[in-house]
Amino acid sequence: MEKSLRHFWLNLALVILISLILFPFNITFSQTPETINTKEDIKIADQLVRTALTDRKGYKLLKELSDMGPRLSGSENSVKAIMWAKKKMEELGFDKVWLQPVLVPHWVRGDVESAEIIKSQLFKNRKLNIATLGGSIGTDKEGITAEVMEVKNFDELKALGKKAEGKIIFMSRPLDPGLIETFRGYGGAVGQRVVGAMMAAQVGAVGVMIRSVTTKYDNVPHTGVMIYNDTIPKIPSVALGYQDADFLSEAIKKDPSLEVNIKLNCKTLPDAQSYNLIGELTGSEFPNEVIVIGGHSDSWDKGVGANDDGAGIIQSLEVLDLFKRLNIKPKRTIRCVFFINEENGSKGAEKYAEYAANSSEKHIGAIESDEGAGTPRGFSLDADSTVIAKVQGWLPVLEHASIDWLRKGGSGADVGDIKNAIARIGYNPDPQRYFDYHHSDNDQFSIIHPREFELGSAAIATLVYMIDKYGL
Ligand SMILES: [Zn+2]
Repeated sequence: MEKSLRHFWLNLALVILISLILFPFNITFSQTPETINTKEDIKIADQLVRTALTDRKGYKLLKELSDMGPRLSGSENSVKAIMWAKKKMEELGFDKVWLQPVLVPHWVRGDVESAEIIKSQLFKNRKLNIATLGGSIGTDKEGITAEVMEVKNFDELKALGKKAEGKIIFMSRPLDPGLIETFRGYGGAVGQRVVGAMMAAQVGAVGVMIRSVTTKYDNVPHTGVMIYNDTIPKIPSVALGYQDADFLSEAIKKDPSLEVNIKLNCKTLPDAQSYNLIGELTGSEFPNEVIVIGGHSDSWDKGVGANDDGAGIIQSLEVLDLFKRLNIKPKRTIRCVFFINEENGSKGAEKYAEYAANSSEKHIGAIESDEGAGTPRGFSLDADSTVIAKVQGWLPVLEHASIDWLRKGGSGADVGDIKNAIARIGYNPDPQRYFDYHHSDNDQFSIIHPREFELGSAAIATLVYMIDKYGL
């Protein structure tokens, strides 16, 4: 009796010990994801690529969108385009389609936009090709007239001191053509566009002209956002075509006292009602787990915004439509978001991030396509290292959709603030031509290459398929 009792206690202790050892593993076992079936996944990737390239359905939709014209935030046309896309999503049979109201800034270019050398022995009456920068104040009817001083950077501007008073400052720093990464070159030169007017006004200047931030050396000026601060006087700010920037630089050397007149009648109106557009395929097993793919529906008012970012929003829509065409039923909810107002305020991104932060949904991944319609190259991931390593393990599958690399990096302006997502991801197509078109009349549907664009849809769809199947 005594012996068997001791046996009992010993056995009980053993069972408890074994349970304690195995308990954590039991949890792990129950959560082990499906093992990767590379062969089956490659088959899906190949089908996504074949379907996108053969049907060219996204390309046709992008043409329809581009034909509607530019979509600057606050414009009637931008809302018209959003309603057009909403109807398309409904016709394609997405499970849910809805609008998220957003108030957006409303700046209008007006119909007066001119710059001319009006005082000079050598260059009188020479007109300069300009685009007003988005957000700039206008001038009165006579415009502003002043001598021009050229600087390459803010240090040179500060060094001018009192000499800058009453002058138009010409900021001529180019996008560094020697960098392989055009986005880095853009980052290095765009400061003169965004804060140039504030910096110049601080030293008493009356206007600013910048060299367009571009990789194309034509004479098409490139616009983009500029900002003011209420404590610094507001002065008009315009971009010069690249060739006219070269011309002006030489002209000032030959005639330093030449004077330029700038006339603008742009203005800022009260904020306007607009919307984020959201469409989704509801997940069959985990409807509360969401994978977002998005771009921005607004564009600048130069060109038609086919590349920036018509391409990104239509690719996002096409990911869902490719799933439908191939009858892939996602386990998790796949959601495309057409963010509004990325170009001059990011009010749509703020609104969606706020929604995501307060929703009971769990955001798994948030992918952004806003780097144009070029050939797919890679995805950059803003996530912790184990998640990045997991996604890197999918490269043998993603290579079938033209993806060469997956690495740590930034995502994009529209998904970067979805902080509770496991990964924020940027889609990176080839960037060499992106700034040829960016924010200018060069951004037309004709510059979209159908194969490169459609491969982008297939690459993003393949990544979404992998995230849906294996989680992050
Ligand atoms: Zn963009």
